Amino acid sequence: LADRTILHVDMDAFFAAVEQRDNPEYRGKPLIVGGTGRRGVVSTASYEARKFGVGSAMPTFKAKKACPHGIFIAPRMSAYVEASRQIMEVFSEHTPAVEPLSLDEAFLDMTGCERLFGTPPEMAESIRALIFERTALTASVGCAANKFVAKVASDMNKPDGVTVCTPGSERAFLAPLAIRRLWGVGPRAAAALQDFGVQTVGDITALSLPTLERRFGNFGRHVWELAHGRDDRSVQTERRRVSMGAERTLSNNITGVDAVRHRLLPLADEVTTGLRAKNLRAWGIRLKVKYADFTLTTRDMRVSSPICDAGSMLEAIDELLQRIELNVPIRLVGLAAFELSDDSQPQQASLFEAPSAKREGLESALDSLRSKFGSGTVVRGSWLGDEAAEKKHDWGPDD
Ligand SMILES: [Mg+2]
Repeated sequence: LADRTILHVDMDAFFAAVEQRDNPEYRGKPLIVGGTGRRGVVSTASYEARKFGVGSAMPTFKAKKACPHGIFIAPRMSAYVEASRQIMEVFSEHTPAVEPLSLDEAFLDMTGCERLFGTPPEMAESIRALIFERTALTASVGCAANKFVAKVASDMNKPDGVTVCTPGSERAFLAPLAIRRLWGVGPRAAAALQDFGVQTVGDITALSLPTLERRFGNFGRHVWELAHGRDDRSVQTERRRVSMGAERTLSNNITGVDAVRHRLLPLADEVTTGLRAKNLRAWGIRLKVKYADFTLTTRDMRVSSPICDAGSMLEAIDELLQRIELNVPIRLVGLAAFELSDDSQPQQASLFEAPSAKREGLESALDSLRSKFGSGTVVRGSWLGDEAAEKKHDWGPDD
């Protein structure tokens, strides 16, 4: 692969920064934007609030304990969407290859744009200056030869900073970082790596690939590649898949919520396994039922935080099942995930509910188990520990 120039542009404390821009009385103060209800979580904390340990995805009640004098406000999405539109416009004035990740961040493929915008740091400055001119907001930018390293870099000099990793220096650039910074390394995988004597990204490159593969299978290769700063994923300008689904025509007609739910369990597993395999998450879930008379009905819902685990899918299914007629004979059931987003990095937390990160971690761990030992295998006493195996039994009889 020829050298590419990838920028990751990320607004600084975006929701909080918009509020501080629009409300001068919030400036210089610890401001926490997020869910204010009983199960609310912090969406964005201003840098003043971060000094007290308040961060995204923290339950609001905990944030109130950590920062009792903080200003807690509910999000004002329309203002953020408007600022986001202006930011995305700046991106598209620099390159057609823009992959938005959320309202306030995107990957830009700027390969071949040197004649127009100069060196990568000059590209970054051009983008940041135009964003500031139009929105009075600051952005941080990471420049590298691939998405993973650019994403890591944008976080290094926040707020209002530019970080460049020149091609060839990736390994040294990443070496001091904690392994959790590697894409796909959650708490459980980090613990397993730590048990193996790995603390930093540099510790991984000190090991041989066969050593890691023997211990961790495909996942071992994944972290080894990333630790060397290798990532071939391209900047995806549009969502390649519109939806991902699974359905079953039943050998005998069924009726009733329990029977339908039971048949949906393996489909939920199938669809979410597919999502994880493609590093996608779904904002929308669709339930499909075909009755014995061949009439087809669907019910859709949107989730507040995009999902890729069967447990969250099941919660959505339970809600959808209440909204559909199930007491007449049914010949086919189906599920689809739609409004898919790329899952190449941790998502911004839900504004309203605690994230399902832990559950997802378990299920990705189960994916690697399945690829290692075959589908249907539940391995006890593996490096994942027993909790993963038991969790699997919680929700579904099938595999
Ligand atoms: Mg941001």
